[in-house]
Amino acid sequence: MSFEGSYGGDASRLNPEDLLECGICWWVYDPAVGDALADIPVGTPFASLPEHWTCPECGAPRQKFMVIQA
Ligand SMILES: [Zn+2]
Repeated sequence: MSFEGSYGGDASRLNPEDLLECGICWWVYDPAVGDALADIPVGTPFASLPEHWTCPECGAPRQKFMVIQA
């Protein structure tokens, strides 16, 4: 597994439109979709997700997510 695109907890490396993929279960966070389960509105950048937000599929913390290169 490559960690080239690892988010690593550094939100400053993220663009507002970036998609991020869970490193555990491969669930994808898309800012254009948001996360209805966690009341995250459409258009919310990954970097703006609340600190307590975790993967809705497996509960992994934000630091486990990796940027998907377009
Ligand atoms: Zn997950």
